Amino acid sequence: MHTEQHLVDVAVIGGGQAGLAAGYFLRRAKADFVILDDHDRPGGAWPQYWDSLRLFSPAAHSMLPGWWMPEEEGQEYPSASHVSWYLGEYERRYDLPVHRPVRVRRVERADDRLRLVTGGDTWLARRVISATGTWRAPYTPDIPGRDVFEGEQLHTVEYRRPDEFAGRRVVVVGGGNSAAQILAELSSVARTTWATPRPPRFLPDDIDGRALFAIATGAQKAAAQGGPEPSSIGDLGDIVVVPSVREARERGALKAEPMFDHLTRTGVAWADGSTQDCDVILWCTGFRPVLDHLAPLVTGDRWGRVEVEGTRVVAEPRLHLLGYGDWTGPTSATLIGAARTAKATVAQITRDLEGGVPAARR
Ligand code: FAD
Repeated sequence: MHTEQHLVDVAVIGGGQAGLAAGYFLRRAKADFVILDDHDRPGGAWPQYWDSLRLFSPAAHSMLPGWWMPEEEGQEYPSASHVSWYLGEYERRYDLPVHRPVRVRRVERADDRLRLVTGGDTWLARRVISATGTWRAPYTPDIPGRDVFEGEQLHTVEYRRPDEFAGRRVVVVGGGNSAAQILAELSSVARTTWATPRPPRFLPDDIDGRALFAIATGAQKAAAQGGPEPSSIGDLGDIVVVPSVREARERGALKAEPMFDHLTRTGVAWADGSTQDCDVILWCTGFRPVLDHLAPLVTGDRWGRVEVEGTRVVAEPRLHLLGYGDWTGPTSATLIGAARTAKATVAQITRDLEGGVPAARR
């Protein structure tokens, strides 16, 4: 196979919303850059979400920098497929140099550059932005008996639609938005039990993702001014009462049980000796950052998080992390919030490169 080596100032790994937001500011800075994405179509993780998923916020509050997300006809809260379409159009609109499918297998030091190794071509970059999201790293807690249970175990990433579960007994695990939304639709066709590590916290019915963004923004401003965080109506982990969740709650389908203690051959068991038989356990228990391509340059803590200053990795200052969660910038992992951290990151990189030795051109 004929492969090439490319020199570039900045390489972005991942062409989801975080990578595209970086691309927008790199384009504006007239930077020499490339975006490498391992999917064969645009949209990052959005094309893989379950069929009925809707955004927490209206289109006008879910935009990437530069171009408002058009409304989806007849829908106040856009669907995941509408977001995928928007991200594809966004790439074209700003003529972003996305190469796909290209999986970056590893990033290694190569003198004054970082080398991105793929199955084919190689890129040598002066700065790297990793924006690979979390969807490829589903997390399930290490609860005893997982290998004993004879039914089916799934994670959120494998769930698409409720009809596959019709008439079955399903235990949904997790107290976040994914669990609540999936439970809301599953409970109308399956016999569901909801297990949560702490009692679920619902936001007031008239609060949606717009308020969550405002909360995160307030916290960021307060932190920047060195003051205490403002009192808030909730936090980013709280459940947004989207219409399907409201309907299920009114039906009485959202009664939560405490977390069970272990799995048995036929179901789940609590510490007090009570049990619940089931056919399926659906783990809606979150994700970890996808950072395997960065080992051994960086190592994450038990949550997979890496030490950063802003978005810059302390152990390798030529490497930045975008998206992933609020540890790389408040709201960095949301559509509307991606711009803020991407802008600051690109400004920092541009300053660095201007102060350094000019890179060779491709
Ligand atoms: P991703 O979208 O995952 O994109 C990362 C890209 O990098 C992917 O294309 C991936 O294939 C690629 N990649 C990974 N590894 C490599 C590699 N080694 N080499 C090359 N490419 C690679 N946010 C909102 O703003 N509003 C909402 O309503 C909302 N709802 C959500 C609902 C759910 C169920 C979830 C899970 C998230 C939701 N989010 C929402 C949060 C956020 O929008 C998503 O997490 C978002 O997809 C993160 O974008 P990203 O660009 O960081 O990562």
